[in-house]
Amino acid sequence: MSEPPAVKRPAGEGSLASALPEFAWPPFPGDAAASMLALVYQLEETQWWPARRLLARQLEQAAALVEHARRNVPFYRTRLPASDRRMTWKAWRRIPVTSRAELQHAGESLFARSLPPGHAPVQPVRTSGSTGRPLATLTSAPASALGVAINLRGLLWHEVDFSARAASIRRVTEHEPGPAPGSWGACFESGAHVVGDVRRSVGDQVEWLIAERPRYLLTYPTMLDAIARHCEERGLTLDFIDRLSSFGEVLDPAVRERCRRVLGLEIIDSYSAQETGVLTSQCPERGAQHVASEAVLLEVLDESGRACRPGRVGRVVVTCLANFASPLIRYDIGDYAEAGGACACGRGLPVIARIAGRLRNMLLLPDGTRRWPFSSTLEFAANDAIRQFQVVQKSAETLEARLVVSRPLGGAEQEAFVKALVRALRHPFRVELRFLDAIARGAGGKYEDFLCEVPLPD
Ligand SMILES: [Zn+2]
Repeated sequence: MSEPPAVKRPAGEGSLASALPEFAWPPFPGDAAASMLALVYQLEETQWWPARRLLARQLEQAAALVEHARRNVPFYRTRLPASDRRMTWKAWRRIPVTSRAELQHAGESLFARSLPPGHAPVQPVRTSGSTGRPLATLTSAPASALGVAINLRGLLWHEVDFSARAASIRRVTEHEPGPAPGSWGACFESGAHVVGDVRRSVGDQVEWLIAERPRYLLTYPTMLDAIARHCEERGLTLDFIDRLSSFGEVLDPAVRERCRRVLGLEIIDSYSAQETGVLTSQCPERGAQHVASEAVLLEVLDESGRACRPGRVGRVVVTCLANFASPLIRYDIGDYAEAGGACACGRGLPVIARIAGRLRNMLLLPDGTRRWPFSSTLEFAANDAIRQFQVVQKSAETLEARLVVSRPLGGAEQEAFVKALVRALRHPFRVELRFLDAIARGAGGKYEDFLCEVPLPD
C-alpha cells in the first residue's frame, strides 16, 4: 500500500481558528472545526483511492440511503426495490431515473418523515427555477458539512490563502443573502468575504471591486467576461485580484482566454447546483473537473440509459449520498456533460471532460436532432461594438439574434454578423436581428447565450 499523501495546508500564514482565548500556539480547534478538519483529512486521502474502491464505498452508502428512503420517504416507497443487503452496480442501474418535473410534482412527499440520529437540523433549499418552476428540497446537517469540506478541499487544491479578502458577485435576495462575512474559509482563520448583487451594471461591479480590493473573485462566467471586456475598453486593471473562480453557467473557453489576456488571471471553474451542492471541482494539475465522489454518485448516461464512454456526451444523473432529508436518488438534473477518462494527476475521482449545458440551451435542427450551438467559437460576436448577445431559436428554421451594441451597426456589419452566425451554426437559419438596451439574466441570476423556445419534449 502506498503512503497516504501529506494533508494539504492552507497557503501563507493561514492557520486554524483557535477556540482557546489567550492561548498563543498551536491553535486548538473547537468541536465544529475539529469535526470539519476530520472530514477534510479524509477527503485528502480518499481523492487518491482507485476508482473501483471509491465506487464500492459509494454503493455501500447508496444502499443505506435507499433503505432509508424506502422506509421514510413517501415519494420513494414504491419506486425503490425491496431492501437488499448489498447494493451491486447492476442493482443500482435498475433504480429508475427521476426527472426534475417528477420531483417538483412530488412536493412534500419528497421529505423524510423521520431522520436517523445526528442528521438534524435540516435547512430548506429552494432552487431559483430558471425554467419557471422552483424545486423545494431540504438539506441535512451531514450533507451541509460534507459540502463545506468538499469546497475546502477544492480551495486547498488551488492553494488559496484563507486570510485574504474574497468577493463574490451573485444573485442576492432576502432569502439568499450568501455566506456570512468572514466565514469563507470555514475552520481556518478567514479574511472578509464581501458579496455583490449580480443585477447591478458591469460598471458598478468594477467600481465596487476597485473599492473592495478582494484577492479572490467568484462569480458567473458571463459576469467575468463582462468585467474583462469593461476593463479592456477602459484600460483598467484589477491587479489586486490573484484568482478568479466561476460557477453556475457553462464556462466558454473564450472567456478563459479573455480573462487571461486582459486581466492576466486564470479561472478556476466548478460545477454545482443549488439542490445538490458542489458536484465537481477543477483539478489543480490538469484542469479537468473531478467529481466529488464522497458526496455524490454522478452518472453520465446515453439515450438508452447506459453509462457514456469517455468522449461521449450524455445527461447528468446524480445521487446525493449524504442527504437523507429529501433524498435525490438517480436525479436527472437536466444538464448534459461529456464523460472523461482517468485523470493523469493520479486522483481516482472520476472526471467530467466538459459540462455542455441544458437541453433548452441546445440548437434544434429541422430534422429533429439537437446539438450545442456554440461549441468552439463565438467569432460571430467578435465585433467590438457588440456588448452582449443572445440567440433565441423561435422555430425549426428561425432565430432571433438579440444584440446590445455600443454604437449602431452598419448594414455591412449586420450582414457579416448574420453570415458568421449561420456559419457557426452550420445550417442556413433565417435570422432576425433585434437591438436592445440590455439583455436580462434569468431568474436564477444565470445568463444564457442560446435559448431554444421551440417547445421541448417532456
Ligand atoms: Zn486530476
